[in-house]
Amino acid sequence: MVFKYRLKGNHMIEESLHAIQQRMADAMASVGRVDTALLVAVTKNHPVSAVEEVARLGVTHVGENRVQEAKEKQLTYKGPALTWHLIGHLQVNKVRQAVPMFDLIHSVDSRKLLDEIEKVATKHDKVQDVLLQVNVAREASKTGMSVEEFPEIRDYAKTLPHVRVRGLMCMAPFFDDPEEARPIFRVANALYEDMKGYFEEGQIQYLSMGMTHDFEVALEEGANIVRVGTAIFGGRVYD
Ligand SMILES: *Cc1c(COP(=O)(O)O)cnc(C)c1O
Repeated sequence: MVFKYRLKGNHMIEESLHAIQQRMADAMASVGRVDTALLVAVTKNHPVSAVEEVARLGVTHVGENRVQEAKEKQLTYKGPALTWHLIGHLQVNKVRQAVPMFDLIHSVDSRKLLDEIEKVATKHDKVQDVLLQVNVAREASKTGMSVEEFPEIRDYAKTLPHVRVRGLMCMAPFFDDPEEARPIFRVANALYEDMKGYFEEGQIQYLSMGMTHDFEVALEEGANIVRVGTAIFGGRVYD
């Protein structure tokens, strides 16, 4: 099956982006939050021109879910410097390419992956910022460590000098009513707050949760990174 994406015109992207930023601000205000949340514009399956367009509009954080696709975009992208987030599942055999490319890897969910990141980051003389992805909803189809595995992997990550855990990432299942994701986000937030005590002061800063469908609920439950693609760039269509 050919997977095709319909990219909105630039004018539409600008409008959509501003609408998302407004909805983010409203969601945060609705629960009295005065801190800030970061919008990661998810450009996966969209051409580099989409990256350049949001960068022109002031977006500085972009998210990709495949290493190869991101690499092609990074090579051809022209514009102001960006912070690149890897949000999709990372295979161990892609770590070698991913480490030099990404500022923050959201999808770390095993010791094996941590070991490989440590190895590659050491070679690059880099300390790789990562988030631990937890499968709070226990979806069999989703990646992410289980809540039971989390303490052990968290403590193991602390022993690696070239890996710096910065927080937690969580995906909720798709519910028709995003309200149903709220309890999942709440558990993720509790894990995130608890995690702070295990690391150096200020190290744990990011709670990445919320996508097009549920980012407002995520923000109400404490997310400070949301990853939004469809609502900015348009939906996926099948040929
Ligand atoms: C695709 C993707 C997103 C963005 O999803 P939208 O529904 O298009 O906003 C966010 N997070 C991850 C991990 C993704 O793979």
